[in-house]
Amino acid sequence: MELKSILKSLHKDAVITYYNANNNAIIRFLAPREDSITINVIAKSIEQRNTLKLQKVTSLIRFIENKKSCRSIQLLDYFDEKNIKECGICDICINQKSKNQKQNKNDIPKLIVAFLNENSEQSSQEIVSVLGLKEEDVLFSLQLLLEKNILSVTSHNKYKLSEN
Ligand SMILES: [Zn+2]
Repeated sequence: MELKSILKSLHKDAVITYYNANNNAIIRFLAPREDSITINVIAKSIEQRNTLKLQKVTSLIRFIENKKSCRSIQLLDYFDEKNIKECGICDICINQKSKNQKQNKNDIPKLIVAFLNENSEQSSQEIVSVLGLKEEDVLFSLQLLLEKNILSVTSHNKYKLSEN
């Protein structure tokens, strides 16, 4: 009688479900029992899951920290796919492109001088279209070359190498 009342109060407290049908009582624990029998089974899968999580996090960190190779290549390399071309649109590819462009910008005055050396008098438009460069970059370089007296402007508003 005392046991039944304890079980009933545990049922009320939602620790167990307790059905007392005549003499066949069923007790079910609502929370997992934390003894060695239940824990040992769960512990292994928890450990495996944690190892897997750690591996995923580690490779994610490596992925973020790698600033050298294309994200696409890195990602597909993770899935063991090889011989992939750079995507051209990820942060690393774009960063690489702008680096190359900056380097090219420094070369524009040299390109213009070389071009005018071969082609005497040229308008800025001709220089832009023949060299295939941005107009603003060409105009900036032309201004620079004029200031340094490397170039001069003709009466037809064309650029030529200064005669020294
Ligand atoms: Zn890329």
